[in-house]
Amino acid sequence: LFVVFEGGDGVGKTTQLRRLAEAMHTAGREVVMTREPGGTQLGLQLRQLIMHGDHVAPRAEALMYAADRAHHVETVVMPALERGAVVLQDRFIDSSIVYQGGARGLGPEVERISRWATNGLLPDVTVVLDMAPDESRMARDLDRVERETVEHAQTIRQGFLTLAQRDPARYAVVDAARPEGEVFHDVFSAVRAALKR
Ligand code: C5P
Ligand code: MG
Repeated sequence: LFVVFEGGDGVGKTTQLRRLAEAMHTAGREVVMTREPGGTQLGLQLRQLIMHGDHVAPRAEALMYAADRAHHVETVVMPALERGAVVLQDRFIDSSIVYQGGARGLGPEVERISRWATNGLLPDVTVVLDMAPDESRMARDLDRVERETVEHAQTIRQGFLTLAQRDPARYAVVDAARPEGEVFHDVFSAVRAALKR
């Protein structure tokens, strides 16, 4: 089972992913928690270059995310899925569509590059943690790469919602502006439903 968490910064992806990992582990499943970019050694180097290096041309940046993804899918995600593990991943193709394709203006080609990079692998379920951007929360978030505006965060949010609407059967949009436990309740139901399919 391949579960991906998507959503803007600070919506609680990491927290929910950890809770889900614990629940799946308790249920006796092998769990692999991973993320993009940075789920492999190569990926960590690419992440470092993209996020902390000199300015990278947008097309180059998109290709670096795709390179990270190609390597990660082939060396981590596919082997785990093949041995029956549950893969819980922080960000995937949708982040590229939304950030590089949408916000950076590179358009729909970004999706094609990603699909090529992953050889067509799709998540069984993508959980979109949805929350209205909040200025005070954004100001507190020190983990951010760029100082982003509320408008930018709105664009990102809308991008994920649009992707979810395009293919509702493979997505669960969860209202993330609630207490952690309530959010998790919905996350867990969505994953249970995907397990039964
Ligand atoms: O991995 P993490 O959630 O820390 O990503 C932080 C930032 O990396 C995002 O806010 C976004 O600016 C950028 N990112 C991106 N394209 C991706 C993945 C992440 O632009 N495919
Ligand atoms: Mg995070």
